[in-house]
Amino acid sequence: MKSEVVPMIKKLGSLLWYDQEESCLLCSAKSVEPICSGCREEYFQPRSSRCPSCGKLIGNLSERCKDCSSGIGPKTLDKVVSLGYYGGAWRDLICNVKYKGQPYLLLRLSDYMISCTVNNLPPPDAVVPIPMHPNKLAERGFNQTEVLASILSGKLGIQLRHYLIRTKDTAPQTSLGRNERIQNLRGVFQVKEGVKLKDKIIWLVDDVITTGATLGESAKILKENGVKEIYAFCLGAGKEE
Ligand SMILES: [Zn+2]
Ligand SMILES: [Zn+2]
Repeated sequence: MKSEVVPMIKKLGSLLWYDQEESCLLCSAKSVEPICSGCREEYFQPRSSRCPSCGKLIGNLSERCKDCSSGIGPKTLDKVVSLGYYGGAWRDLICNVKYKGQPYLLLRLSDYMISCTVNNLPPPDAVVPIPMHPNKLAERGFNQTEVLASILSGKLGIQLRHYLIRTKDTAPQTSLGRNERIQNLRGVFQVKEGVKLKDKIIWLVDDVITTGATLGESAKILKENGVKEIYAFCLGAGKEE
């Protein structure tokens, strides 16, 4: 082996393994876990309830968030769980995954993802990622929801299924209000030809839920095609103050 190759492999090894155990992904404090207990408390808020309709963190005082109580939240999902509150360093990490090409960071979240789904959702027939339009996929190189879904699939032995396709390359949802988001997504998703969905129970996976327009619209199409129950998992959701 060439002399410069050995140190390179050692460096790679330390990046992949040894350094991982040492510091929190969010605050860089020393931590045996990928995310330290302080950051888990701050961003995952394990004692705070989630609105079952949209995944928003709602403390423990109400059953649903204000939006869902007043009927403007998504209506096609049977339950939504979010791992954490989409803010601060947790939001930064999700943005780094998506916009700075760091999908491998998600692998280190697998234990948290598993306990969030398994403890809160009934077992599904398949795990389904929200699809990305081929133009966006070509630009980014990967679909973060597919990485998330494949982690859950691989770790839990649940089938990964690409039941949906995205037929329109829409404007980013982030710049739009609730009604515009719903409008923007009309007719965007389709069920792949030939798939049998009757009576299936599905976990639908997205990275972030805000108004629930994307997950709600995807779930609507899946249910129109025979899916019985749809449970959604995402990394981040809003928080009701
Ligand atoms: Zn931390
Ligand atoms: Zn809600």
